[in-house]
Amino acid sequence: MKKIAVLGAGGFIGNHLVNKLKLEGNYVTAVDLKHPEFEQSKADNFKIGDLREKDFVQELFVEPFDEVYQLAADMGGAGYVFTGEHDADIMHNSAQINLNVVETLKSSQAKIFYSSSACIYPEENQKDALNPICSEDSAFPANPDSEYGWEKLFSERLYLSYARNYGLDIRIARFHNIFGPNGTFQGGREKAPAAICRKVILAKDGDSIEVWGSGAQTRSFLYIDECLQAVEKLMNSDVRVPLNIGSSEMISINDLTRMVIQLSGKNLNIKNIDGPIGVNGRCSDNQLIAKLLSWQPNYPLQKGMESLYSWVKSQV
Ligand code: NAD
Repeated sequence: MKKIAVLGAGGFIGNHLVNKLKLEGNYVTAVDLKHPEFEQSKADNFKIGDLREKDFVQELFVEPFDEVYQLAADMGGAGYVFTGEHDADIMHNSAQINLNVVETLKSSQAKIFYSSSACIYPEENQKDALNPICSEDSAFPANPDSEYGWEKLFSERLYLSYARNYGLDIRIARFHNIFGPNGTFQGGREKAPAAICRKVILAKDGDSIEVWGSGAQTRSFLYIDECLQAVEKLMNSDVRVPLNIGSSEMISINDLTRMVIQLSGKNLNIKNIDGPIGVNGRCSDNQLIAKLLSWQPNYPLQKGMESLYSWVKSQV
């Protein structure tokens, strides 16, 4: 039985990860500012606390862990990270968490997972909605389009430098839009798939669904179960360079909305309105992960959206 800490275990990915690690028979300590919103955590031990506080982090890691998953971050969907209104908090809060974690764990033997993001990739490589460049080696020269992306890039380098100088045993993934049940679907931090499901579920025949931007902006979305399989493969490998974990099934946001409208069986239109959209195009480039981990996703977007849609429907 491994002893594992999951930081950010009250959030979407962290809570799913705790469930998986528990099913596999591990002893799991969960840490977050809050408990999961939609179900009770299955962790053996849930510590409520603020990872920005160094004393709290030092106390947490007095106990040795075999693995630490660092998922805690001040984050949200486009409505949270791309308006500019939360930039200072995003940079300060997430950087502070990561600084505390690496410094406290610098002489630890634990294997440490850090969740970075596709948002680190340069804006100019993602202007063409149909041909975005998101290969791992395209990260530099750096020019992320959001402070959220800059903080993730800084923290990747923080973990890499602690690995180089203090021997920290790290694994880093750049997640590309992970989605599925039990994630935020309202309140301002929700991501496009859940927000679209909510809007469609609440609409009546003849209504228009508001979609930010022209709707031609593209993304790819990876179902949570597949994301966690890839994380497991990465943790069990000796790959210490940042790897994309995402789907390569690219879709425009208007087409994603059409997919959800079709699932609903309703007669709805799309109305494109001004709003924060981020880059024009983004899609996971999976060549490196296929080569290094022999991993590729195979869960079709449609299937994942059906599962998300029925879960959001049960909540609305
Ligand atoms: P989430 O917002 O649901 O979870 C993050 C959790 O961190 C929240 O529960 C929050 O309360 C906790 N947290 C924030 N500040 C904290 C603090 N000071 N102390 C303790 N806990 C704190 O996000 P998620 O979707 O589960 O994402 C998990 C990680 O993966 C994040 O680092 C995120 O940036 C990264 N990521 C996610 C996606 C995605 O599509 N979901 C994409 C790219 C990267």
